[in-house]
Amino acid sequence: MPLADAATLDNTLGLPCRAERFIAATTRDDIRAALAMARRDEVPLNIVGGASNLVLAPTLPGVTLQVACDDWWWEAGDDQTILVYAQAGLSWHDLVTACVERGWWGIENLALIPGHVGAAPIQNIGAYGVELADVLEAVHVMYCDDGRDAVFSRDECEFAYRDSLFKRALAGRVVVTQVVLRLSRRPAPRMGYGDLAERVALHPEVRAIFDAVCAVRREKLPDPAVLGNAGSFFTNPVLEATHAGRLLQEYPAMPHFPQPNGRVKLAAGWLIERCGFKGTRWGAFGVHERQALVLVHFGGGDRQALLALADHIRDTVQQTFGVMLEREPRLMG
Ligand SMILES: Cc1cc2nc3c(=O)[nH]c(=O)nc-3n(C[C@H](O)[C@H](O)[C@H](O)COP(=O)(O)OP(=O)(O)OC[C@H]3O[C@@H](n4cnc5c(N)ncnc54)[C@H](O)[C@@H]3O)c2cc1C
Repeated sequence: MPLADAATLDNTLGLPCRAERFIAATTRDDIRAALAMARRDEVPLNIVGGASNLVLAPTLPGVTLQVACDDWWWEAGDDQTILVYAQAGLSWHDLVTACVERGWWGIENLALIPGHVGAAPIQNIGAYGVELADVLEAVHVMYCDDGRDAVFSRDECEFAYRDSLFKRALAGRVVVTQVVLRLSRRPAPRMGYGDLAERVALHPEVRAIFDAVCAVRREKLPDPAVLGNAGSFFTNPVLEATHAGRLLQEYPAMPHFPQPNGRVKLAAGWLIERCGFKGTRWGAFGVHERQALVLVHFGGGDRQALLALADHIRDTVQQTFGVMLEREPRLMG
């Protein structure tokens, strides 16, 4: 049986949080034992990775499980691809770095996203025009109710923008133990997003794109080690074309991205900035000065104050544009 002591839970927002019983599971047996403990004692089970996409309560009751298995390995897929197997506790950025060092293409645009491999499929992490779903082959899970193993193919994961089956029907019901990615040996640069293309040569190496992504992110996003944050606090809203069309008549400069299904994605950061929030401070929290989508914690604040600010921003955007923003990080506890 793994140790299950009370512990302070570090999180990128820097909110104070104490987990009543924290288990860092370094083996599959540990994971199974943690699940069994929560069932036996009939207490809540909280599954965390790096806590970079969570708004935590001051206390997490029950069992808090962090998968700490962090091995990875690979095998040849076909003559053009590599299959990468990564355990859930591995740092996502470390995996990206290791693959880029080997010259494998596919996840270089997802560099510097904080957190663990096991959380990557939950919201189908994405950045700079690439989503995990583009390279994901399979997700290995363990069911919380009886510890049985299962494997989900990419199609079965029902991936969408910042969404998957694991956020809906299977939310809180499975622990991701491993993901399998199919990466390419052949160059497959994707530079259509933002100013990436301006920063790299016409025929770049995978390392150059990785470096450019890291540089842009360091310029634009606050480092959680310096200033608490959870990355984007809201997802980009996706509207019916008619609704977006009406807004565009009023705000012709509004960034908008037509989707394959006919709907139109807007930039939540632009909407928040237009409401005058960018760079403002509200007690212990504020709206980042370079990226209005990121709420920051200057220290000493609590979850209630953060959520009050988020609600105020959401309501103001709703009143101004008739668009309802949705929170990206999950509340836990
Ligand atoms: C500065 C910054 C920049 C960011 N940039 C991006 C970005 O560009 N794109 C993006 O998509 N996200 C971004 N994020 C959000 C975040 O990094 C990702 O969502 C990441 O995948 C969260 O990983 P984590 O290990 O910290 O998960 P946590 O925050 O610990 O958990 C997130 C969710 O996943 C669940 N979970 C975690 N591990 C498991 C597991 N093994 N099994 C089952 N469920 C699990 C948790 O229960 C929770 O619901 C950013 C965050 C920060 C702080």
